[in-house]
Amino acid sequence: MIIIVKQNHEQKQLDNLIKWIKGQGLGVDLSVGENSTILGLVGDTTVIDIDLVRSLDIVENVKRIGEPYKLANRKFHPEDTIVEIAGRKIGGDNFSIIAGPCSIESEKQIIAIAEEVKAYGGGFLRGGAYKPRTSPYAFQGLRENGLKLLLKAKEETGMPIVTEIMSASHIDLFRDVDLIQIGARNMQNFELLKEVGKTGKPVLLKRGLANTIEEWLMSAEYIMSEGNHNVILCERGIRTFESYTRNTLDLSAIPLLKELTHLPVIVDPSHASGLARLVKPLSLASVGAGAHGLMIEVHNDPIHALCDGKQSIKPIEFKEIVDSIDVMLPLVDKKRN
Ligand code: PEP
Ligand code: MN
Repeated sequence: MIIIVKQNHEQKQLDNLIKWIKGQGLGVDLSVGENSTILGLVGDTTVIDIDLVRSLDIVENVKRIGEPYKLANRKFHPEDTIVEIAGRKIGGDNFSIIAGPCSIESEKQIIAIAEEVKAYGGGFLRGGAYKPRTSPYAFQGLRENGLKLLLKAKEETGMPIVTEIMSASHIDLFRDVDLIQIGARNMQNFELLKEVGKTGKPVLLKRGLANTIEEWLMSAEYIMSEGNHNVILCERGIRTFESYTRNTLDLSAIPLLKELTHLPVIVDPSHASGLARLVKPLSLASVGAGAHGLMIEVHNDPIHALCDGKQSIKPIEFKEIVDSIDVMLPLVDKKRN
C-alpha cells in the first residue's frame, strides 16, 4: 500500500501519520521527491482501514500495490535511486563502467589491467577472487589472496573495486570491497542476500541463470528488507534454447525494469554472450536501451586467461567501446561517471 501525501502538509501531521502506521506493526518507507511525498507501507497491510486513511486531511490518495516486491517498487519511490560508492554515483543520469578480468590471477596481471582500464575510462575495477565454477576441477580463484591483490590494485589506482561473494562466512573479508557482487548462481541464496543486506554495503545483484524479472526483484527485496537500499541490478543474459551464445541478453529487461523499479540497472555483455566479438554491439545496444552502466570483462592476455578468456576483450578494444559509448551518451541524457 502507498499513501500519497498532500503537497502542503505540515511536518507534524506527517510525523503523526507515520507514528500511527508504525503503531499498527507496519514498516514505513518515506520517499520525498520534488513533486510528491509518498509513504510506502511494508508488512501485512490488511490491518489498515483504507477508507479511514483516505479520509485524513493530509492524505491525497491511497493505493494498494499488487506486486509482491515493495521497497524495490517504483510506486514506492518514483525517483531513481542513485547508489553512491567511494565518491562515484551509479543510477539516475550517470553512466558507470565496471571493467576488469574474470579472475584475479596475479599481482602483475590485476595491476596492469587496472591501469589500462582506468586510463581508458573505466570507473570501477572488477576481478573475481572466489569463482563460482561449474567444475570443481576448474580454477577456483585465488580466494583470500585474490582479495588482497584486488585491494592492492585499488590502492595503486584509486579505483573502487567490485568482487563476488559466495559465502556469508566470508563477509568480514569483504570489509574493504566497495561493491559486493552476488553472482547469478546465488541470486536466490536467500541467507546470503540477508547477510549482505545487513552489511549496508552496496550490492551488485546479478540476474539468475533462469530467473524471471519478478523473482530477481524479490531477491533485491531480500537485501532491501534488511535496511540496505544500495542495490544495483545487473542483467547478464538468461538461458534459452540458443546455443551460439553462452546466454541470451534480455535487452527488454532494461526498459521494463526502469518502469518497475527505481534501482539502477546495468548490463554484463561478456557473460550474456560468451563471445568477445559481441561485447561491443551488446554494450552499445544496452546504452541505447537505457542501461545505467556496463560490467565488461577485460584481460590483457585473453588467450591465456585462467577463466572466461573467450569472452574477454583486450584493453584497446575496451577503449574503442568507451569511445563509442561517449558518442552515444548525450542521446540518452546520461553522462559518464
Ligand atoms: C562473474 O561476473 O564473474 C560471473 C561469474 O558472472 P555470473 O554470476 O553472471 O555468471
Ligand atoms: Mn567471468
